Amino acid sequence: MSRPTRYQLSVIFTDECNMRCTYCTTAKRPVFMPAERVDRVAALLWATDDVPVDLNFHGGEPTLNWDMVVRLADAMAPMKQQRRVSFNMCTNGTHLDAGRAAWLSDQGFDVRLSIDGRRDSHTRFRHSRERGGDAAALHDATVASLHHLVTAGVPTAANMVVTPDTVDQLLANAVFLIRQGLVHLVVSPVVGLPWEDRHLLTLDQQLQGLLPVWRRWMAGRQERDVEDLRRSILSEIDRAIYCTGERMNQPDARVLVIGPDGRIFGDEPEIRTEKALVVGHLDDCTDLATLPHPERTAFQLMYDREFYAPHVLRDVRRTHRLLRNRMRTLYRALFGEDAPEGVGAAVSAERRAAAAPSG
Ligand code: SF4
Repeated sequence: MSRPTRYQLSVIFTDECNMRCTYCTTAKRPVFMPAERVDRVAALLWATDDVPVDLNFHGGEPTLNWDMVVRLADAMAPMKQQRRVSFNMCTNGTHLDAGRAAWLSDQGFDVRLSIDGRRDSHTRFRHSRERGGDAAALHDATVASLHHLVTAGVPTAANMVVTPDTVDQLLANAVFLIRQGLVHLVVSPVVGLPWEDRHLLTLDQQLQGLLPVWRRWMAGRQERDVEDLRRSILSEIDRAIYCTGERMNQPDARVLVIGPDGRIFGDEPEIRTEKALVVGHLDDCTDLATLPHPERTAFQLMYDREFYAPHVLRDVRRTHRLLRNRMRTLYRALFGEDAPEGVGAAVSAERRAAAAPSG
């Protein structure tokens, strides 16, 4: 077995989340990764060959186990002096204040924030178990965290889950997020709700509406901002191709996910597929490079129709093909050239956005 030339390693600090989004597919168990397991993850990473590492801080909601987040970041930060290491966090932001945002900035994190846009869309399917379930308070908390992240200079992408119910608001939600200072919008068509032809038509129209929005935005922007936009669109093309099942996620990387209970998965698990993706256990592992590969990746499992009904798969393919095509058209119109084939993979690796379908 050849040794990995890059790791994409996700640590699930807890399966628990303080929210209960209707469309969420992650297992929400009250299991939190303890300090000794965090230290074991760090030790295994330090023992890897001198290759790049993309380290994703995941959940559930990772900020619910904040002390362990800090512990792992502290343990791994010195490695950045020796090789390319990126820190990435996927969070709903409701437990991020200005101090934590400043810390994420100091540590060089990129953040993917779960925010669907304006209040009405955001709270249609996202529900908090805190703040008395008050939808307005939930949205206010997420928007406040976005402001903290932008103010602290943390590169932040919005994970916008789009549903058949909210797709007619996609453009308005995108404009809302761009006005908050975001450039990278990860449009995630929800999996499991029925996408009828009329919804796809609306998705298509709304995506086409992004062209004048971004054209206006680009006018007078600095080269660096425009480059951020270019790379974010390439990254979205790449992600959409992955979600159609046409190729592997991060084909050049060894993808591993470590759960709070110590199980090691060979791809991003969710509640239906996690058993099939187990490749080892933290307590028994002495070398990450020697772990077996899973028999099938998460999306291969999905497309083998073992875990999803045929109509769900049809919708996933149709929405992501549409997304891929529209993003390519957008790229060509904005930058005057075709999106380079295969470049997106490298871009998304750099931007460390894991392609988990949850939000
Ligand atoms: S989608 Fe994200 S924020 Fe919502 S319940 Fe699931 S893990 Fe929590």
